[in-house]
This record gives sequence, structure tokens and C-alpha cells, in this order.
Amino acid sequence: MRYISTRGQAPALNFEDVLLAGLATDGGLYVPENLPRFTQEEIASWTGLPYHELAFRVMRPFVTGSIPDADFKKILEETYGVFSHNAIAPLRQLNGNEWVMELFHGPTLAFKDFALQLLGRLLDYVLQKRGERVVIVGATSGDTGSAAIEGCKHCDNVDIFILHPHNRVSEVQRRQMTTIFGDNIHNIAIEGNFDDCQEMVKASFADQSFLKGTRLVAVNSINWARIMAQIVYYFHAALQLGGPARSVSFSVPTGNFGDIFAGYLARNMGLPINQLIVATNRNDILHRFMSGNQYVKETLHATLSPSMDIMVSSNFERLLFDLHGRNGAAIAGLMDSFRQGGGFSVEPERWTEARKLFDSLAVDDEQTCETIAEVFEQSGELLDPHTAIGVRAARECRRSLDIPMVILGTAHPVKFPEAVEKAGVGKALELPAHLSDLFERDERCTVLPNDLKAVQAFVSQHGNRGKPL
Ligand SMILES: *Cc1c(COP(=O)(O)O)cnc(C)c1O
Repeated sequence: MRYISTRGQAPALNFEDVLLAGLATDGGLYVPENLPRFTQEEIASWTGLPYHELAFRVMRPFVTGSIPDADFKKILEETYGVFSHNAIAPLRQLNGNEWVMELFHGPTLAFKDFALQLLGRLLDYVLQKRGERVVIVGATSGDTGSAAIEGCKHCDNVDIFILHPHNRVSEVQRRQMTTIFGDNIHNIAIEGNFDDCQEMVKASFADQSFLKGTRLVAVNSINWARIMAQIVYYFHAALQLGGPARSVSFSVPTGNFGDIFAGYLARNMGLPINQLIVATNRNDILHRFMSGNQYVKETLHATLSPSMDIMVSSNFERLLFDLHGRNGAAIAGLMDSFRQGGGFSVEPERWTEARKLFDSLAVDDEQTCETIAEVFEQSGELLDPHTAIGVRAARECRRSLDIPMVILGTAHPVKFPEAVEKAGVGKALELPAHLSDLFERDERCTVLPNDLKAVQAFVSQHGNRGKPL
């Protein structure tokens, strides 16, 4: 499988190189040159497979040429073996024909484990084969950091540096990062905000000379491998609900357009999906595009669903590329006007096409809390605020009660106690067994000033398993 850039000017790469790449050299994102397509018979024959076996069948075409089948199977078995629920992604019924797919049974209790547990193992496999080492520098406002650290902690060939804004992530989220020790794991608290952290990561990708020749790898969802891993659970849910003979709808809480884009790909790969609902919080650039053809940057609002607090959705460029007949020059033009003027609209027929593919809704904090309370009362299920946004959007945008509706349950409620408390649900939140002593564990973290040079100096002094590069 070959991968091409959404801006049309970078060389095509194979899977291995895409895994190790950040953005393409032309500033675009990598996408498969040709999407695999499965027949209904083929998909039907996967009914009842264990999760890792299904994952092998869905993802195999994306890695062919880079990873032999037997090795890929083994990697997948290990990856999903660390999840604490036998079903890996169990479906829980809320209402008639309405289901939450629980994607929070991985080590860090959010769906990001599905991709980052795999990414860590794939990196180590490929790097060992090549005899190379890489450095990861990533910024997090919460869930990505812990999932990336958990995913890479056993990697022999990866050193990982995660930047979070000092005193601005929740205690559970911080401790999920800082209590994991290893000489290749480095938590850095920056005396600044999340945007400062992200700027430093971007600047480090742009000029990698401080790495003395070591390669920098991306762990955010611009990395294709993350999207690829998320396609699998759409098949998993549909197969349990009568698919592919019957079509299924999904409602997806989203910020960076990663998870929902994976659903769009699943549909293009042959899975019958009826509705795909984009569910955002008050930071609603995606909803404003879907409802009014305005992709325009606005100020960032802090909400009760912080993992979706974004101004710009990085993966949206991958959809725009398809909407524009895969014309890289058109995308480069749109992105230029976005950079210069802070927004754009697309041609009416392209927008109409997007509206056929997706429904959307923006849900504010008050509605989020209402939904948490309502669902708890109706069914005894306690939702995290991100999942609650998905449920709200599903209920408001649903077109048919006969078609099963699956809401992606993106995080465990224990990660977001503030929202649960505000919703007035009188249920004590308990950490799962493997994290029950989280608040007693020692922490390891370095506080650094909001200064790029200081951070890069730290990375180059510790980037080789704690030793200088
Ligand atoms: C990251 C995250 C999201 C948003 O993911 P996208 O890739 O932007 O769709 C939603 N919910 C939770 C809990 C997250 O951690």
C-alpha cells in the first residue's frame, strides 16, 4: 500500500515510512492511495471473530508490503491483550436500539489506547528491523499524553517526551502520565498553556537540528496509523448488530475529526453505515461547517469535555481532499486561505456532498450535564461528558428508530469527575482495579519554563534512554 499527501507535492510513501513521518513535506497529511474495499460476503464471514482477528482482516491491506502477516497478527494479539474487558469494545444498550460502544477498557481509560497501544508496538517492530531509534515529542491537554506513554513505555527504540501545561491538566490525567517510570519516558510540565506546548512541538518538527540526526515521530492523529486502528471498531460494532446485512448508524464525539474520519473510511471500505453524526462541544468549527459551509476559526472555550476543546480540526483536511476529487493543489489553496484569513467555504456542490455524508450537532456544557443525568436516570449508566455529547447528538439527529444507533463511548467517567458532579448524579466514581492506587503512587516530572530552547536542550540531553543524544 502506498500513501499520498493531501497537498499533492510530497513523495508517496509506504506504510513503514508513513508510520515514521509526521506531516508530509508539503505540509499535508498522508492518506492511502487506494482504499481497500471488502465485499458483503467477506465482511459477513468475520462475524464472531475475536477483536484482534477482526483487526487483522480490516487493517491487513494497509500494512501489506511492510509487515508480514504472521508478525502483524502477533502484534495485534499483544496489543488488544492488554485491554481489561474480554470483548475489548463491548456494546452496552441504553435504550431501544441505542447502544454505547465502550472504548475505555484500555490502560488509560480512553479510546486513544486502541491506536496508541498499536502505534507503540508497530514503531518498535519497524525500528528494530531498521536498527534505528526515534524520539517522540508530543503535547497533551489530557488523554493523548497518557495513552502515548502507556503505548511506548516498553519500546526499546523510542524515547518519549510529553509536554503538558503545568497545573492545567486534571489530577487523574496528570498522574496517569507522571506515575509511569522508565528511562525512556519523560514528562515535562511547561509553565504555559496547551497552545504553548503545541507550538513547541510544531517548531521542533520544523527544525529538528537539536535531535542530532535522530528522527522525530508524531503521536497525534495526523499519524495515519492512529486513524487506521480506529476503523476496526466500526466493523466490530456493526457485526454484532446484524451488519453487514443490516446497516448501522454511529454518533461520534469529535474534536480533531479523527475518530469520525475512521468511520467515514469504514463506510467507504464497504461497511453499510447509515448515519454518521459529528458531535462537538461548544468548540464547534465542524458543526458550523456541516450546517452552514463556514470553516472558520473562533476563540477557544474551556468546556467540561476538554479532550474536544480545539479551534481547528487537523484531520478535516483528509475529508476535504476526498471532497475535492483528491486534488492536492485545491487543498493547498484552501489551507493557504485558512492560514491567511482564518477560514473558508467550499463550493456549494462539495458542501452538499459533505452534508449527505454527515449529520452534526454542537452540544454545550449545560446540555452535556442534562444528558448525563437523563441517561443515568433512564438506564443507570454513568457517561463521561464526551460520550454524553455523542448521546445527545444521536438523540437529536436520529432519522430512523429501526436502524441501530451506536454512540462511541470515548472515555471512562472517572477521568472527568467535574462533569459528573455538575450533572448531580449521586454515584461515587471508582477507579478500576489497575489504577486503584493512582493517588498514592510516586510521580516523576520536570517543570520547564515556556521556552523552546530550554525544552529542546532537555530533549537532546535525555533523548537516548535518559542519556544525551
Ligand atoms: C481525543 C478524544 C476525543 C476526540 O477525538 P477525535 O480524534 O478528535 O475525534 C473525544 N473524546 C475523548 C475522551 C478523547 O480523549
